[in-house]
Amino acid sequence: MNFDLTPEQDQLRDAVRALGRRYGHSYFVAKAKSGEHTTELWEEAGRLGYLGVNIPTEYGGGGGGITELAIVCEELAAAGCPLLLLVVSPAIAATVIARHGTDEQRKRHLPGLADGSRKIVFAITEPDAGSNFHRLGTVARRDGDDWLLTGRKVYISGVDEAQHVLVVARTEDATTGKLKPALFIVPTDAPGLERAKLDMEILSPENQFLLYLDDVRLPADALVGESLDAGLPALFAGLNPERITVAAMGAGTGRYAIERASEYTATRKIWGGRSIGSHQGVAHPLAHAAVQVELARLMIHKAATLYDEGRDLEAGVSGNMAKYAAGEAAALAVDTAVQALGGAGMTTEYGVATLLGAVRAGRIAPVSREMILNFVAQHVLGQDKSY
Ligand SMILES: Cc1cc2nc3c(=O)[nH]c(=O)nc-3n(C[C@H](O)[C@H](O)[C@H](O)COP(=O)(O)OP(=O)(O)OC[C@H]3O[C@@H](n4cnc5c(N)ncnc54)[C@H](O)[C@@H]3O)c2cc1C
Repeated sequence: MNFDLTPEQDQLRDAVRALGRRYGHSYFVAKAKSGEHTTELWEEAGRLGYLGVNIPTEYGGGGGGITELAIVCEELAAAGCPLLLLVVSPAIAATVIARHGTDEQRKRHLPGLADGSRKIVFAITEPDAGSNFHRLGTVARRDGDDWLLTGRKVYISGVDEAQHVLVVARTEDATTGKLKPALFIVPTDAPGLERAKLDMEILSPENQFLLYLDDVRLPADALVGESLDAGLPALFAGLNPERITVAAMGAGTGRYAIERASEYTATRKIWGGRSIGSHQGVAHPLAHAAVQVELARLMIHKAATLYDEGRDLEAGVSGNMAKYAAGEAAALAVDTAVQALGGAGMTTEYGVATLLGAVRAGRIAPVSREMILNFVAQHVLGQDKSY
């Protein structure tokens, strides 16, 4: 058992931390409040190779794994810049295309994802299906060599910043007549694809959208993989990287909040010469949150290591547990930090309440805490499926 990062991973962590700190939370908040994107940070991270750390070197990436991408996600978040699109574009889309795309799809999409010049977002959630992916109603029909996609998607992040969206649809199996999942790489400006921005109570430079697909015509090679059989494995390929990187973002956010609060409580003196942090009623909740964040980081490390060793099933259990633990720890850490800062905790200037919406959403998306508990109950505890 080894809890240390390699020297290269250590260097990556230090370098990403330095980049994140140069931008910082005030940059992130200013962009979110003015309705802009964190383009400068994204582009610089791309130029420095941080967005492609997990992409194979032959396509311009760093040739590392999800461990490296989790480091990028965590350190940017720990600097106050939790970038949700890291979870969508390099973690989900790049993994799916690298592992299950055709040669042509890899050559066309991976270099741009690696240097950050292109983004591919991910659309699975539907208004009438929600957590129940078996009810997906977006259907792909053949029309000659082309595909026609029709359906609706909801809460899709970053569509306004992306060139493509990876859409999970269903196709009819010619032999059984059953619908099975298939993934399509859809240009965000495709005729028949309309979007409506959702008003969300999350302070973020990244937006969520409703997507309407109305007979969106796609060429045959928009289908991910060589055949329809690639659909299910391709979909599953994205899940572990998604859970692990979103967990890393949560752990980084938790670290950021605890650090802000600790600096404040160690120096604020309102009862004579002692800091408010000397009162255990203030320090213990922060220490408790720090323990929860550190426990989540351990599980993230385990899940990423298993995933990078190709142990997908074990990584699935650890990845889900890591996502659960980090989602809870981040929400606890931010809420505890707000309380420890008193009134300052609710100001924009001190930069902790600005994360309340994001960490709250982290207990719902990309997979809710309840659905993870269902998974653990079924796969770890051997309970019957309840749904
Ligand atoms: C900020 C944000 C960004 C997002 N970005 C994306 C994106 O880029 N792409 C994308 O495809 N989706 C995205 N989503 C959607 C997200 O993945 C879903 O919101 C999430 O999977 C939950 O689905 P739902 O909202 O339909 O809730 P529902 O499935 O309707 O669930 C509602 C509640 O019921 C609980 N519940 C449902 N079924 C069960 C059950 N069987 N047992 C116990 N509890 C249950 C849930 O846990 C939840 O608390 C995003 C969401 C948010 C908030």
